[in-house]
Amino acid sequence: MPNRPTKTQRLSDLSKLEIEEATQASGQPAYRSGQVWQWMSQKGIFDVSEMRNVPKALREFLGDRYALPPLKIAHQSIAKDGTQKVLFKLGDGKLIESVLIPAEKRTTICLSSQVGCAVGCHFCASGIDGGKRNLSSGEMFEVFMYMRNQAKANDRSITNLVIMGMGEPMFNLEQVIVALDRINSEDGPNLGARRITISTVGIAHGVKRFTASKRAYNLAFSLHAPNDQLRRKIVPLESAMTVEEIRQAALDHLKETGREVTFEYVMLKGVNDSPREARELRKLMKHTQASVNLIPYNPVPELNYQRPTDEAIDTFTEILEESGVKVSVRRRKGADIDAACGQLALKKNRE
Ligand code: SAH
Ligand code: SF4
Repeated sequence: MPNRPTKTQRLSDLSKLEIEEATQASGQPAYRSGQVWQWMSQKGIFDVSEMRNVPKALREFLGDRYALPPLKIAHQSIAKDGTQKVLFKLGDGKLIESVLIPAEKRTTICLSSQVGCAVGCHFCASGIDGGKRNLSSGEMFEVFMYMRNQAKANDRSITNLVIMGMGEPMFNLEQVIVALDRINSEDGPNLGARRITISTVGIAHGVKRFTASKRAYNLAFSLHAPNDQLRRKIVPLESAMTVEEIRQAALDHLKETGREVTFEYVMLKGVNDSPREARELRKLMKHTQASVNLIPYNPVPELNYQRPTDEAIDTFTEILEESGVKVSVRRRKGADIDAACGQLALKKNRE
């Protein structure tokens, strides 16, 4: 998938060193670049005209060269439970979304890594129109800072970040890591690495590189089935990892980084939610050191899948727990504002 379509860079895509170099090229002392960096990385201000303590000459210099405007807000909605969903319009008019999920003790941001998704899991709204392009690290960072400021306005600070919006992060790993390192950095938002999770459907080369990078960000695999026959019915991409490859990668990741992974399992009524699958999954988990996160399906109107009954969810959970598998069940959030991944962007793109 191509990266950004234009030649002009966004200011937020520049590294600290690049901003320093640009500052020097403009004839200003290097320390001025620190002020520009602070506006972006601490306040979430990306429009140079708003950087009040930066000399006008430097603002103009940067404004001329890094002319792409900050992201626009195309739509915002708040669910009854406080979940906020924001639809962003990118420089090329494409739409992506992010969700802010306040809970009792946590406030989580869900971030997209791509526009659309090329994997096309049959149950997922993000894949319906295919993959469009990667997000740049600056675009992801701007979205993060906007959502963080939204939380701040309600006296909440961000405790967790999940890369579980639109797109497959392992197809855009480089930019995702640059964005996360910046979110994690001490002179930025300083969100702890262990509070950040990357979720992947299982793309072998990306997962290998991520493990080798030794980052302490959490890794979650979207498994969705205990065997390949069923997994292929849900995740159609031929090159996606098999169940055995995922099991092995989870062990490798633990060995290399000391970090246990999570297996996500979207529960689809009548597809993968029976006691038979639970028992098969339990068997697989015996030979894996990981926990399971069950995600009852959030229905997408265009797609023909349903959420399992509460009884089926409970039975599935009990079967896993009986043999000591660590299981969590994701509570439903933001259902009245289409807060499932990709849903709002899909709706707006088709209007
Ligand atoms: N592409 C990555 C990350 C984005 S999807 C991946 O697949 O892991 C993040 C998670 O949201 C995945 O586990 C996915 O299965 C889940 N998801 C997507 N659409 C959903 C829906 N409508 N209801 C419940 N979970 C959904
Ligand atoms: Fe892509 Fe993840 Fe949706 Fe599958 S679940 S289509 S990998 S975003």
